[in-house]
Amino acid sequence: MDGSMAPGLWRAGERDRVDFRAQRMRGVELSGTVKAADIVAKLKAQGKEVISFSVGEPDFPTPAHICDAAKQSLDRGETHYVSSNGIPELRQLIAQKSQRDNKIPCEAKHVIVTPAKQAIFESILASIDPGDEVVLTDPAWVSYEPIIRMAGGKPVVVAVDARDEFRMLPEDVASVLTPKTKLLIVNSPNNPTGSVLREQDVRGLCDLAQDKDLWVLSDEIYEKLVFDGQHHSLAAQPGMFERTVTVNGFSKSYAMTGWRLGWVVAPEPALNEISKVQQHSITHPTSFAQAGGIAALKGPQKSIEEMAHEFRARRDLIVEGLNKIPGWKCNKPQGAFYVFPSYDFPMNSQELSDHLLQEAGVAVTAGSAFGRAGEGHVRMSYANSRANLQKGLERIGEACAKLGQRGR
Ligand code: PMP
Ligand code: GLU
Repeated sequence: MDGSMAPGLWRAGERDRVDFRAQRMRGVELSGTVKAADIVAKLKAQGKEVISFSVGEPDFPTPAHICDAAKQSLDRGETHYVSSNGIPELRQLIAQKSQRDNKIPCEAKHVIVTPAKQAIFESILASIDPGDEVVLTDPAWVSYEPIIRMAGGKPVVVAVDARDEFRMLPEDVASVLTPKTKLLIVNSPNNPTGSVLREQDVRGLCDLAQDKDLWVLSDEIYEKLVFDGQHHSLAAQPGMFERTVTVNGFSKSYAMTGWRLGWVVAPEPALNEISKVQQHSITHPTSFAQAGGIAALKGPQKSIEEMAHEFRARRDLIVEGLNKIPGWKCNKPQGAFYVFPSYDFPMNSQELSDHLLQEAGVAVTAGSAFGRAGEGHVRMSYANSRANLQKGLERIGEACAKLGQRGR
């Protein structure tokens, strides 16, 4: 090209400068949880000693038999493309697991293997038109709202609070529905609050979905971490399979966050659309990681129980410890590995998080990262050793005692 052009075309500078950013990215920020994790990783790389209550991932290693299966897959040369919806054996195992553990009436053809976050992205992108309203809680896991915005949808929030154990209550959801509401996002056990829906909540939400003809995205990634009560899959309720997309995965149950492996279970009309997004984006998750997934579902499940048992003890430790520190108040969540305490120091949650990092070498995530209603709280992941929890609590106590003297 010599720079000459057809008549009528413009030269750079002759029209408004072209901004890279699409309209749909306005109002989309970087992920607060990923940012918090990056800060901790950087400080640790600099040799600083940080006790991290920030990122949400199990501190246990991936069980050895799962790692071995992936290594053997590599050794067998399974390093090429596989089916876009996932390796057939893995889809079959996921369907069996969903029938057995979750009572979801599904078959292998209803499963797509994909990282849980990607599953949420694909499901929302495939279902939401510009202007469609999507109902979710405030606070909620950091990525739902940005994904809704990227799809052109309108997030509509239902505030939840500690008085109701942060549960998403059907009556509150009913009060925000409009004829434009298309999708309801339910996340139990919950990130960031650790709340677990009761059976009556699940029934109420399902009644609403059927009565108002809504689709449901049920994010059940913390399913195996319920300490009191029971997990109830929405897609197992009568009449719900046809309108529910269930997201789950290996990250939390099998300590496999880095493997980027999870799944979505959906009725065929939804699955067909989600599948298109998968085929036109990541194609499929890593082939030999899927061999690890097969081993995880086929192998011993004891590690899940042991991990859940340990998390329960840590929850008790952190809740009790926080409530002993003046200025902190923490309810006892029933699941996941997060607490979402409130505080009464004269600063916002980002300032308090910065203070704790600088003064105490303790990393937490500001509650505001999870929505407006998260302000006045911080999220603490207790996926850390009991010794570190104890030490972190002591340091928080000391750093906050200084705050009290200064601030009040
Ligand atoms: N949903 C929730 C509620 C989460 O907390 C996370 C992050 N662990 C995800 C989805 C994404 O999971 P994954 O890292 O397995 O994609
Ligand atoms: N879900 C984890 C968290 O909330 C990991 C980061 C992310 O995926 O958001 O900390």
